[in-house]
Amino acid sequence: MWQVVGHKWAVDLLNRALASGRVAHAYLLTGPPQIGKRSLALNFAQALNCLDGNNGERPCGQCLACRKIAHGSHPDVQLIEGERGSLKIDQMRTLQHEAALSPLEGRWKVYIIRQMEQATAEAANCLLKTLEEPPAHVILLLTASRSDALLPTIVSRCQMLNLRPLANETVQRALQERWGVDAERAQLLARLSGGRLGWAVAVSQNDAILARREKHLNEMKELLGQGRVERLEYAQQLSRNPEAAPELLHLWLSWWRDLLLAASESSAGIINIDRKDALSAQARRYSLGQVRDFVEALRAAAWRLEHNANTRLTLEVLLLSLPNN
Ligand SMILES: [Zn+2]
Repeated sequence: MWQVVGHKWAVDLLNRALASGRVAHAYLLTGPPQIGKRSLALNFAQALNCLDGNNGERPCGQCLACRKIAHGSHPDVQLIEGERGSLKIDQMRTLQHEAALSPLEGRWKVYIIRQMEQATAEAANCLLKTLEEPPAHVILLLTASRSDALLPTIVSRCQMLNLRPLANETVQRALQERWGVDAERAQLLARLSGGRLGWAVAVSQNDAILARREKHLNEMKELLGQGRVERLEYAQQLSRNPEAAPELLHLWLSWWRDLLLAASESSAGIINIDRKDALSAQARRYSLGQVRDFVEALRAAAWRLEHNANTRLTLEVLLLSLPNN
């Protein structure tokens, strides 16, 4: 049994490849962070090396190989991740040398390379050599948030699986049934997750993330009543921790999009449902034009940060375009 929630088309596609014996040597799994790329890759690695395949469905989840892969202790299944935000050439060289050797216990040697966009140019070029002439027993499973951040020569040698966000109901049901989250909390987390089950599960087990959300929404509320000096100071503070900025922008964007919905009194798609009253009150205070303009400003800022613009400058421009109370 595959333990993957949702992404049924991708599971079906991989199952058909297994059944027909026509498994590609490289797959590229793309999609937003915490959407289930690593889970899918690990399940596929289990299906490839499951020892119980003759009797039932692969992966069985019970045999020694399936259990070792789940615990990260199978010698033929390697998970390769960047160190301090970067995949290095040494990691790819090690892969290249090891991949040439026969599997020790399984049918296949499987390399799961996470966040391929973090690869240095040298590392990407080194991996390309393995992709160009993969040993017969090797399967490479690359993950990345977007394929356009990778070398086209790498993308073209992989079969693409682009994972999309899950439906809110799917996330909510999984949280309740598999992780025992109560219904109200599961509904809120499902909406906040934007269809990313991994995020929802992480938050359900870590109160600090929701506390940070609370803090960031309160700060925004305060900034609405503050002037230029406080706003620029806030932008400066925030830019000292550039990794936190995208999450904050994402949260604010969800809030201002909700304001558009609240203004048109269609609450169906509202994400921040636990704060419906605050949304309605704030929606009355701004014109639709003001809200739309700030949604656009948030989108533009997020885009600029993704494309390596100066964090402080981007945040300053954004904060100054925040409407006044
Ligand atoms: Zn098994």
